[in-house]
Amino acid sequence: MSDKYLVKGKYLPTIGVECHVQLKTKTKLFSGVSNDARDAEPNTLISPICLGFPGTLPVLNQESIHLAVKAGLALRAEIANVSHFDRKHYFYPDLPKGYQITQFERPIVGKGVVEAPLGGGEFVSVGITRAHLEEDAGKSSHPSGADYSLVDLNRAGTPLLEIVSEPDIHNAAEAKAYAHELYLLMKYAGVSDVDLYHGNMRFDVNVSVSDNPQKLGTRSETKNLNSFKSVEKAVEFEINRQIELLEKGQKVIQETRGWDDAKQKTISQRSKEDAHDYRYFPDPDLPPIEVEQEYIDRQLDSMPTMPSALRSLFGSLGMTEAQIDTIIEEPEMSDILRQILDQKDPKTAKIVGNWLTGELQRLITDGEINLKQIAAVTNQMVKLASMLDGAMLSSTAAKEVLAVVVKTGQDPEDVAKSKNLLQVSDESELVMIVEQVISENEKAADDVRNGEMKAIGFLVGQVMKLSQGRANPAKVQELIKKQLGV
Ligand code: MN
Repeated sequence: MSDKYLVKGKYLPTIGVECHVQLKTKTKLFSGVSNDARDAEPNTLISPICLGFPGTLPVLNQESIHLAVKAGLALRAEIANVSHFDRKHYFYPDLPKGYQITQFERPIVGKGVVEAPLGGGEFVSVGITRAHLEEDAGKSSHPSGADYSLVDLNRAGTPLLEIVSEPDIHNAAEAKAYAHELYLLMKYAGVSDVDLYHGNMRFDVNVSVSDNPQKLGTRSETKNLNSFKSVEKAVEFEINRQIELLEKGQKVIQETRGWDDAKQKTISQRSKEDAHDYRYFPDPDLPPIEVEQEYIDRQLDSMPTMPSALRSLFGSLGMTEAQIDTIIEEPEMSDILRQILDQKDPKTAKIVGNWLTGELQRLITDGEINLKQIAAVTNQMVKLASMLDGAMLSSTAAKEVLAVVVKTGQDPEDVAKSKNLLQVSDESELVMIVEQVISENEKAADDVRNGEMKAIGFLVGQVMKLSQGRANPAKVQELIKKQLGV
């Protein structure tokens, strides 16, 4: 292990991440109830299955298999041809059955790998141990001051894919990069709404530190982090807390911790002594899942271009890392640029790329336009880019036209004409203006002839004025010099 990871010269942090991804099926994993509980009143999206009534039987949602396979392919992982569900037993008020249906022995997704960018062309390669399908539990809440607790079962039975990483991460920045890359992969694969605020992705981080390179230290698990920032901060906090304990000659205890976002610290929740014996066994109510290889191959063929491939594709245009990150954050945006690159020259694509990360980004932030409007005018943007490239209009004028084109869908040439933004492309017309300016400004013309080059700027200015700013200044200067024989 490289020394670059050592803290205080001797402690090596080791981090593994578990991530629960809510799959975007219409209905729950084992019942025909809506999977979108965002705006629902408590306990309105429930059925006898969600309530765990005796005599009910789960029926597997086929779409969840489809999405789990796609997620697995995004993780460049092996997909199991046969997997099955197990029962994981524990008692909790938000789990009326007394067990969670999950996959223990044979998960649907096996070993894979995620390459997460760290900036500056660096990557961290994180192995995927496995990913399994399982149902979510309900939600308990404890109103402050009340002598009762509330249970909402809307979330009970929603489909989750739990992605387990290898302990290949060694600092907080890598943990954050990995979490963000997982987010992008799930977004591009189209398997989840990836709305972190609504808990569509939740991260648990296992952190340990050790001063012995041969041995891992005792780990803590900080659960339910729902932002990339909190993943980074919780890992950082745990590394520091554990090193402090070791420095004082104390022991790190294996425990589950929670993250207090307001205080920016982790808090102990339960220690290993109350660890459960889950008594896993195969769920007799559900047959094994069989996925044919031919189906998996077909899914692989239909996967979209993923972020890693897009990074090298856009990188070849000479765009900056920050620009590429901005575009890749939105699959719709990468799609626009990739399509242009497929059909047109890199020069055109780069001009559009600059607009996407500059002017258009600004208009989106200001709420003036949305991504759909941009996607609808791809052809017009390509035309405008070639107008700019052909010096038909200035880059400032092009931005002005662009805003109108995206908002109205109009043809860029029509817009440029109506706004009188087209540069004078007819050389004879420009020569006439130059001649007129020279004859009206004899003194300045003489100065230029006598080698006073400052005066040329004045003449260029006069031509620009007379052409109402539609001339190309470099071209004008060239013509003036030619006329004056300098
Ligand atoms: Mn789980």
